Amino acid sequence: MPQALPVQPPAEFLTPTAMKYPFIPAALTTVLLAFPAFQFSVSAAETEPPVVTPGVNGAPPSDAIVLFDGKDLSAWKSEAGGAPGWKIENGYAQVSGGGIMTREEFGPIQLHLEWASPAEVKGDGQGRGNSGVYFQGRYEIQVLDSYQNKTYFNGQAGSFYGHNAPLVNASRKPGEWQTYDIIFHPPTTGADGKTIPGSFTVLHNGVLVQDHIPVNGDATTAAKFTGTTPKGPLLLQDHGNPVRYRNIWVRKLN
Ligand code: MG
Repeated sequence: MPQALPVQPPAEFLTPTAMKYPFIPAALTTVLLAFPAFQFSVSAAETEPPVVTPGVNGAPPSDAIVLFDGKDLSAWKSEAGGAPGWKIENGYAQVSGGGIMTREEFGPIQLHLEWASPAEVKGDGQGRGNSGVYFQGRYEIQVLDSYQNKTYFNGQAGSFYGHNAPLVNASRKPGEWQTYDIIFHPPTTGADGKTIPGSFTVLHNGVLVQDHIPVNGDATTAAKFTGTTPKGPLLLQDHGNPVRYRNIWVRKLN
């Protein structure tokens, strides 16, 4: 907190009232320095931020695009083309018959989704509850049962697969619902042809696991697409494990 200076304007700048109460300017300065909000109000944004009604109990906010509400996958298509082959029941969709990707393509977004690895534990390492969220069909935030399941660090749940391990392992037990809240800014290509990095910020079950890390344009191994792009689909991976998803929504950030 900045300290207020003992400001005392020269007498020739003071009005008769101010001369009578010379401490007022100093007191005002003290108040302004003590409350930074007052300072920001002086240079406030010129346009009023839009009103967004937040969701209750994990429901989407009012400006979200709902990609899966537990009832149908009409916002999605099979990775191979055609309708998704995933099973929908009890408000979730379960991986089956290939990956799925959104019909709409996205640039920078805020994503919320919930996932659960199989309650019945099978396999280990990368073979246990493996799926993944590929942003623009290129950059994977790993979905994996990482509860007491060792694997390479940049391949466990919450990792930017092959690039960056999560800060902590915030995994819940197999079969329990888990949340991802992810801020993604895609890398872009500058006028000089060089890649301008994007970024990932990821919260796993409300815990920060990726803190604004760079996305340099290198696609995840075996990604469906490569190269930087302004917009691309979200893709949920079929890695042969019956992982479940529910409550998927995005907010566009541009
Ligand atoms: Mg994966």
